[in-house]
Amino acid sequence: MDTKYYTCTYCHEEFVPKRRYVQKYCSNSCRSKAHHQKRKTPALNQPTEMPPVPNKIDSMSVAGIGNAAAGTLAADALKSIFTDRYNKPATKGDLIALGNKIQRFQLVKNLAPGIGGALPYFDMETKNIVYRNHNDLIP
Ligand SMILES: [Zn+2]
Repeated sequence: MDTKYYTCTYCHEEFVPKRRYVQKYCSNSCRSKAHHQKRKTPALNQPTEMPPVPNKIDSMSVAGIGNAAAGTLAADALKSIFTDRYNKPATKGDLIALGNKIQRFQLVKNLAPGIGGALPYFDMETKNIVYRNHNDLIP
């Protein structure tokens, strides 16, 4: 006869199980109460009920990132966005795709300004150099 004590999952009292290994509660009453308690609080396990976690990067506008960050800095910021949101490393394709969305026109620094002071930009979408006034650019 196994006289090892089990601890009731509901009331935490020790008891000698009538059926070894499968009995989690000391009595039918505890089993029933535990069952009702579980049914009362299913919402706690749902992600929608969790308090919102503030995320500084998320709250920044996409345009803001594009204006503030450049080169490797932008790549690092994008990488952390993907890592936070999906908890996985971003692929090079992810970064390029989002980078294009953020800043389609990249200023070309080794070309002279055009007529009327328009600046040369590399259009990431068409792969062409375009001359644009700064005010024409929509980030
Ligand atoms: Zn119990």
